[in-house]
Amino acid sequence: MAGLNPVIDVLIIGAGFGGIAMARELDRLGIVDYLIVEKADRVGGTWRDNTYPGAACDVPSHLYSLSFAPNPHWSRLFPRQAEIHSHMQHLSAPWLARNKFRFDWSVASLRWQSAERVWQVSNTRGEIIEARIVVAAMGGLHVPNWPDILGRETFSGRHCHTARWDHSIAFAGKRVGVIGTGTSAIQVVPELAKVAAQLHVFQRTPVWVPPRPDVAIAAWLQRLFAWAPPLRLAFRAALYLQLEMLSLTLLKPRSAFWVRWLARRHLHQQVADTTCRKALQPDYPIGCKRIALSSDYYPALQQANVHLDTTAIAAIEPEGLRLVDDRHVALDVLIYATGFRPMDVLATVQIEGEGSASLNRLWADRPCSANGVAVPGFPNLFFVLGPNTALGHNSVLYMIESQTGHIGTLLRDMRRRRCAEVEAESAAMTRFMIDIDRAFPGTAWAGGCKSWYLDAKGRNIALWVGLTLTYRWRLRRARRRDYAFR
Ligand code: NAP
Repeated sequence: MAGLNPVIDVLIIGAGFGGIAMARELDRLGIVDYLIVEKADRVGGTWRDNTYPGAACDVPSHLYSLSFAPNPHWSRLFPRQAEIHSHMQHLSAPWLARNKFRFDWSVASLRWQSAERVWQVSNTRGEIIEARIVVAAMGGLHVPNWPDILGRETFSGRHCHTARWDHSIAFAGKRVGVIGTGTSAIQVVPELAKVAAQLHVFQRTPVWVPPRPDVAIAAWLQRLFAWAPPLRLAFRAALYLQLEMLSLTLLKPRSAFWVRWLARRHLHQQVADTTCRKALQPDYPIGCKRIALSSDYYPALQQANVHLDTTAIAAIEPEGLRLVDDRHVALDVLIYATGFRPMDVLATVQIEGEGSASLNRLWADRPCSANGVAVPGFPNLFFVLGPNTALGHNSVLYMIESQTGHIGTLLRDMRRRRCAEVEAESAAMTRFMIDIDRAFPGTAWAGGCKSWYLDAKGRNIALWVGLTLTYRWRLRRARRRDYAFR
């Protein structure tokens, strides 16, 4: 093992939006002794990893921005991956200039040293950083789900996952298969349909697809937003309130009739063939799986070179896919748009807290936490976008900033009280999990579909169930009652 460096105050893991927001919070508090470690060679998180053609955000750009880093010059209402990633690179420049990042630093383990009250964080090369506080901003959707389909390793053509796009694959003139019809698939399918000779879309479950009202933001409006920030802020507030209203309908699905009507009308307007329409009509409540906004998915599916296949896949074979009705679909390229494994968020990191308690073991059945931010037995360790703080309806950046602000307040309290340790109370974790489980039944997300929000037993492992405003309010109150300071 490499020699130890001096102990630093704070180590942030992950250089996505969460890590950057946390760094900014530390700056605001005047904490200068911190580093951000990142497994990749650049900032960006989700928006660095998901580079598939058509990748874009389905939260409007002016809302999908950190509040301290507004961008009046977003070129579209719904930003595309390249624009978000370049915005993030621009955003991170001050921290790059201050040498705050350690890239290619893939965390392998975190071990709490109770005598010294520090976290010993090691990477896959055996290098160690010691820090008094660790903030894990690793995101919940970064482990690709490679589906457990018989014969997956035998496919002889090119293949990749949407979250690990292989830009060396040429699609022009090829027979391409896409497994999955979630939000990633509905974005990549229209792009592949433009170039593939044949595109086979393998659908297990249809998704609700309302139209995506994407427009370019005119140059004059961008200038106006730059010139009059209150106008941009008002626009952002209007977008935020609109999505909070959507969450009300998802919390009480009976009131979601208008979103359902919108999606049904869209399907009827865009798909004339009744058999195809029937195959694309979901039979579960809208919002149960993430709503997939798209105005070009249905038209792409009806192109002459595109085939929607709803027969289950029996096996992957060297030359293509075998379906359960024994049909063989010959393919040159296979795309896995099969999502992520949120239960495997700690797949590559071992975390040992007080008394060598293992967080991996604790979370093996279900990831539990106090407010999605901390776990009893793991002092001075905080999570950004921890369990049950992802969203199915609004900007996750709002949740990130709620959490980084909350963590900042705890660090300030520690400093004020001259404490070396802060740890979540067990009662706080119990309260949070009970509140999540109580609020969940009766919501759209509990509507009986299968989604990455749920574990194999149907328990909600991912979502915050409520308004984002309620979450921010909860964290305000949590500061006083949910932590022990030592
Ligand atoms: P996803 O929503 O989990 O969808 C995975 C798809 O793969 C589903 O259609 C699923 O079918 C299918 N699938 C999985 N295993 C399969 C198997 N063994 N055989 C056949 N089909 C299989 O994943 P995603 O589309 O990557 O989206 C994940 C999340 O990423 C989203 O919910 C969202 O939070 C985020 N995302 C956001 C945006 C954005 O615009 N902001 C864009 C893309 C992704 P079943 O439905 O039957 O399980």
